[in-house]
This record gives sequence, C-alpha cells and structure tokens, in this order.
Amino acid sequence: MLMNNYDVIIIGAGPGGIFSAYELVNLRPDLKVAVFEAGKPLEERKCPIDGDKVKSCINCPSCAIMRGFGGAGAFSDGKYNITNDFGGTLYEHIGKEKALELMKYVDGINLANGGEGTKLYSTAGSSFKKICLENKLHLLDASVRHLGTDKNYQVLGNIFNVLKDKADFYFNSPVGDLKVLEDGTFEVECEGKSFTCKKCIVSVGRSGSKWIEKVCNELDIETYSNRVDIGVRVELPAVVFSDLTSELYESKIVYRTEKFEDKVRTFCMNPNGYVVNENTNGIVTVNGHSFDAPELQSENTNFALLVAKHFSEPFKDSNGYGESIARLSNMLGGGVIVQRFGDLMRGRRSNMSRIEESSVRPTLKATPGDLSLVLPKRILDGIIEMIYALDKIAPGTANDDTLLYGVEVKFYNMEVAINDRLETRYPGLFVIGDGSGVTHSLSHASASGVFVAREIAEE
Ligand SMILES: Cc1cc2nc3c(=O)[nH]c(=O)nc-3n(C[C@H](O)[C@H](O)[C@H](O)COP(=O)(O)OP(=O)(O)OC[C@H]3O[C@@H](n4cnc5c(N)ncnc54)[C@H](O)[C@@H]3O)c2cc1C
Repeated sequence: MLMNNYDVIIIGAGPGGIFSAYELVNLRPDLKVAVFEAGKPLEERKCPIDGDKVKSCINCPSCAIMRGFGGAGAFSDGKYNITNDFGGTLYEHIGKEKALELMKYVDGINLANGGEGTKLYSTAGSSFKKICLENKLHLLDASVRHLGTDKNYQVLGNIFNVLKDKADFYFNSPVGDLKVLEDGTFEVECEGKSFTCKKCIVSVGRSGSKWIEKVCNELDIETYSNRVDIGVRVELPAVVFSDLTSELYESKIVYRTEKFEDKVRTFCMNPNGYVVNENTNGIVTVNGHSFDAPELQSENTNFALLVAKHFSEPFKDSNGYGESIARLSNMLGGGVIVQRFGDLMRGRRSNMSRIEESSVRPTLKATPGDLSLVLPKRILDGIIEMIYALDKIAPGTANDDTLLYGVEVKFYNMEVAINDRLETRYPGLFVIGDGSGVTHSLSHASASGVFVAREIAEE
C-alpha cells in the first residue's frame, strides 16, 4: 500500500531519533519521514510509583521512564555535556571538531525551543582542577548545559510541536522485524503491519539493546562486546558538594585506586536532586535527576560512583554480568538497596530505624540492606577508596550518614559495526545514539542524529 512507504523511517524517539527527524524535516521537507516509538507520547508518560499506593517499580510492560517521546532522556536532568572527554566515542567516527560542532548546534536548538536562560557551566579555568590533582583526583574537561528536568520536558514538548505535522509519529509501536529487501530498501514490521523505506535510522537506545542485538544477528551485522560500569549512587546533604556544584554543576572526577589501580569515576551529578529507580529489561537499578526550578529541589545532592569493567575473551556478555549483580540486589531488597556509609564500614546492614535516624533524608524509598552482599569486593573497595578521596575535596562525603544506593549499573550496548557515516554494511541502514554502543549521553546521541540526517539530506 502506498501509504506505508516512506523515504526515511526512524526507529526510536529518544534524543537520537528526535534530532534526526528535526534536522531531516528542516533540510529536506520534500522527504516523507516516519518515527516509530515503542513508548507513549510525552504527555502520557507517567511512572506509576507515587510513593504512596505504588512504592517501588512494578515492572510495567513499557517503562515510562525509559520509553516514549524523549527516550531515556525525557525525565533526565537534561545535562547536555559538550565534550569529547566522556559521553561516548562519536568523535572516533566523525572527528573531534565535527562532534563538538554538532553538540553546540544541538545546544542552540534546545535554547531556541525553551531552554533559553539556562546556565552553561565550564571546567575551563576552574581552581578545582588543581585541588583535585593535589588529592589524586582528575577533573575532566567539559562544558555542561543544565536544562533541568522541568525545562528539558518543556523543550521536548516544543520540539514535538515543531515535528508533529512534518513527520508521521507512531507511538505505542514497537518495531518487530527489520528486513533488507532485494532492491536495497528496508521493510519495517510493526504490530502486524509492514512499512517500507529507502533509508532507515535505528536509534533504539539502551532499552532497545536486546532488539538491536537480535536485528544484528538476523542481518549478520558484526557487534563487539563492550563494557559495563557498576557502582552505587551516593546521596548526601547538598551543602557538602556545594562549592563544586555551584561552580561546575556537574564534575566528572576520575580516581585511580591504590589497591587495584582500577578507575572509579563520578557520574551524573544532581545538585539538590532526587534519586530514582530505573528499569532496564525488568531489572531495577538506580539513577538520579534534579529540577531547575528552586521550589522543586531537594536538600540533597546525588551522584554515581562507577567502576568500569572491561572483559576479555572468551567472555562477551558484559551486560549480563551487570544484570546478574543488579538481580542480586533486586533479590535481596525487592528492588534497590540503600545503606548508610557508616553501616557499610562497620560491616552491618542498614535497617529502617538506622535510616530514619540518619541526618540525610533519602529521596528514594529503597530497602535498607547490605551492599557488601551484592557488590564484588574489588568494586566495593574501589568505591570506598574514592569516597575517602572525595572527602578531602568535599569534606563530609565520608560521613557515616552518607547514603549509598545500589546498584547503579551503566549498561552499554554492544557496539555495532558502523562506518564513518554511522552506516552499517547495508547502504542506507544507519545505527545511531546509545543503541549503536557509540554514544552514552544526551548530547552525543543527539549529535549523531543530526549527523546522519545531514548525510541523508545531502544525497
Ligand atoms: C534517569 C536518567 C537520567 C539521565 N540523565 C542524563 C543526563 O543528565 N545527561 C546525559 O547526557 N544523559 C543522561 N541519561 C542518558 C540519556 O538519557 C541517554 O544517553 C540518551 O537518552 C540516549 O538517547 P538515544 O536516543 O540514543 O536513546 P533513548 O533515549 O534510550 O531512546 C530510544 C527510544 O527507542 C525506543 N525503542 C527501543 N526499541 C524500540 C523498537 N523496537 N521499536 C520502536 N521504538 C523502540 C525506546 O522506547 C526509546 O524511547 C540519563 C538516563 C536516565 C535513564
């Protein structure tokens, strides 16, 4: 049927897919573009956890936090890090200059769509670099635009309004099969219907990791095993980190442990923020975000401390390893476990009364427990070492009442074999964003979307 034919089909409406669509409809309004999204439209996305009737994750068939218009980024803190130092390795494909240029371009679009007035923080010239180095900590270079969860949501809503009449959006529409036809075009199967397209942009993010693995197997597209980052989310009074957060907002700090020479790093810092659950393929882990509006902010700051695990042959299933550790915490705690740092150091579990007596009020309802029963010794030792190192630049980090939530797992998709156009071995089939294993952040995923849209528009 004619109505099912498109010039371009984009699978996934996270930042990667959204920015592909945005750029495409602007550069080539003549093209017929469709976006298929497994989750709901932005305004219908709602996590059922209300802290009252529903206290913890109930494993919805389609997680409202991870899926829907805006992707995993919709309720995120909206921190767009403009840097090649972290957030992905897009620069390996398109070059550092181009990658930075596209991240800045994305920033401009966000500002033009409701993000104006938000602050751009930068590590350039910061005195914290020296203070960190004096304490064996390494502060990575970046500029970070903090939209905040509230502004980020508004920006997404505004961008959808720009797109909705220029591209066909299919929500609640998980793509099943993706086939390459004999004439080099593509067939996309969704809920029993078939759609064809000349170009296909796959941008399915982390929640689509199993799906992309299946597609790569079926189409014989090579994938490479990747890493997994495992750790905890730290929550403490905002004042402990206020010197750092008021100057830099988010500081990416790396520490090399003395015991094992492993690298531990801070990740996703949320001043005056909230700790939240994250559900990936039915496994509940922890994450965090914060609002821009002062009246919505909490009294705490949270950030993750993560240890990267790279595996060598013959082991390939790095995500499976991370999932098993997360499952263990889910088994013991029915979800995420929370423990006071003081309890961890005294070798005892936290219980409800110890948490209630703590001076840090938790922003997430999690089960008090013992993280040493969950995390491998090497990882836990690294995290403890880093907490003491951070205590030197932000005194109070190693206080007994500091809360640790576990586990935080940063899953990375298998890296898909793509060329410098982010195209697979099938001309016209592009894989971008976190689903490609190349990006791990809002800014890199969005930049990859713009890049591919321009490649297609030029043809
Ligand atoms: C709570 C939270 C906070 C975060 N905070 C930050 C932050 O502050 N800064 C930052 O840089 N990063 C942050 N991240 C990470 C960031 O959200 C991701 O890196 C980014 O969203 C990746 O974009 P993407 O488009 O590649 O994938 P995603 O955003 O994951 O979007 C992929 C979309 O594809 C859809 N999909 C999957 N499979 C299919 C299918 N078969 N058919 C149709 N649709 C499908 C999914 O439903 C999803 O909506 C956060 C993540 C979370 C969960």
